Amino acid sequence: MLGLMQDWPLLVHKIIDHAALYHGEREVVTRSVEGPVVRTNYAQVARRARKVAHALERHGITLGDRCATLGWNTARHIEAWYGIAGIGAIYHTLNPRLFPDQIVYIANHAEDKVLFFDITFAKLVEEIAPRLPSIGLYVCLTDAAHLPDIEVPNLVAYEDFIADADPGFEWKEFDERTGCGLCYTSGTTGNPKGVLYSHRSNILHAFIAGQADAMGLRACDTILPVVPMFHANAWALAFAAPMVGAKLVMPGPKLDGDSVCDLLTAERVTMTAAVPTVWLALLQYLEKTGKTLPDMKRVLIGGSAAPRSMIETFERKYGITVVHAWGMTEMSPLGTLGTMKPNVEALPYERQLDYKCKQGHPPFGVEMKIVDDEEKELPRDGKAFGRLKVRGPAVAKGYFRGEGTGAFDAEGWFDTGDVATLDPDGYMTITDRAKDVIKSGGEWISTIEIENIAVGHPAVAEAAVIGVAHPKWDERPLLIVVAKPGQAATREEILGYLTGRIAKWWMPDDVLFVDEIPHTATGKIQKMTLRERFGKHKLPTVAA
Ligand code: ADP
Repeated sequence: MLGLMQDWPLLVHKIIDHAALYHGEREVVTRSVEGPVVRTNYAQVARRARKVAHALERHGITLGDRCATLGWNTARHIEAWYGIAGIGAIYHTLNPRLFPDQIVYIANHAEDKVLFFDITFAKLVEEIAPRLPSIGLYVCLTDAAHLPDIEVPNLVAYEDFIADADPGFEWKEFDERTGCGLCYTSGTTGNPKGVLYSHRSNILHAFIAGQADAMGLRACDTILPVVPMFHANAWALAFAAPMVGAKLVMPGPKLDGDSVCDLLTAERVTMTAAVPTVWLALLQYLEKTGKTLPDMKRVLIGGSAAPRSMIETFERKYGITVVHAWGMTEMSPLGTLGTMKPNVEALPYERQLDYKCKQGHPPFGVEMKIVDDEEKELPRDGKAFGRLKVRGPAVAKGYFRGEGTGAFDAEGWFDTGDVATLDPDGYMTITDRAKDVIKSGGEWISTIEIENIAVGHPAVAEAAVIGVAHPKWDERPLLIVVAKPGQAATREEILGYLTGRIAKWWMPDDVLFVDEIPHTATGKIQKMTLRERFGKHKLPTVAA
């Protein structure tokens, strides 16, 4: 017997309608790409999103068509997302940090029909447009006065594009499983693969994200997503913030410590989210200037492991609670969040920190297990580690155009490519990405753990560990370090600092100092490049 409740389809434009009706005056503030800080609110965003929908429909865009965006976090970008999705078309976020050839590959693979782009990327768009045959319309996210002078066919300023469109345009109705957003993983191995979110998955994921023991979002919050909308759905915030009526502060193109700090302070932001490299820059800026962030309550750190020293500085020095989170594009992206369970909250702070360094526990809607190479499930004892597999309503069941099928098994589990432990309380710890693990004498060494401890040394800004071939042990760890500005340390000092903090046989065989560690388009340490550069490094532990 079926239940007798309404089939109210979970469509994302219902979120912006809700926000407009019940939180209409709540502000959406943007540091615009043109320069000044501009203000709008949910009522306006919803009206203009309907105009985008109408303008796109007039242009012939319809159910299932892909509309790409190459843009920073701004109110216009949000309007475009809701407008595109509201007619059943698919917003497709392109990551401007990728190489032009990769962007071309992705846009062609997706067969995008429209490209919305910020003026920052005008030259890039001009360069690649001749290689994008499917795109018939270029909408620059600005007004006529700022429209760049570039050679691109069918170029229009966003404000002109929507000027006479209908703010009362009626959203389309369709199945909640309809494709809504498309985001390609950065594809550190092989070509990038497309993850196609549905309306249903985006809404369920926003519900999951907002929960008290996840991001804990409220109408009273002021949220600044530093994490870009082109990085895995801005970690749900473009949906979860309007869903609860929180004020949104969009940082536009300026993501350096100084600019982020300015906005956090001026707009009295209470919650923010970004990858560790962004927080590294912010903390260095705070240290240099002596500034504090009195309104800030929570900071979400994810995308790469948050080092203990970073968590401790935020919490002890600035009184800001850290929520360490793990996830990936294929999971919409939230997988686990490091909020405190009662038995952990009862522990002394030093022990709580041990848990905050873990990647967190899964909210309802995320199932996980770890398996060995024979697919046998491993115990949840906090010790055994194996490949992490996940399932849930906001987890991908395949990639766009049927690629990468090997990652999905017959029972519907997705192989994350991460190696992890699960403890009896449900907290998960990532020890490595499977392709980065170091196997020394048949045993695994966690590069992430060594890196996290190394950045606790007062002179170390960033650290990366890679495996280097060794005749006796197969592979041994090499530690690569960037010193903090104006500081220095010796190889012996760094190794001395690690002594007693990691197992003896994990001790790096050498330490190299570099000016910069390369990062991927989503802010992760580019281990492949490091391996290419330093993989042949001659370890002092190998006899000549
Ligand atoms: P990419 O496109 O670079 O793969 P994702 O954001 O999808 O971007 O990357 C997901 C991966 O990032 C995860 O599989 C994991 O390896 C890593 N990651 C994310 N969050 C954390 C975290 N808190 N700690 C350690 N690794 C993390």
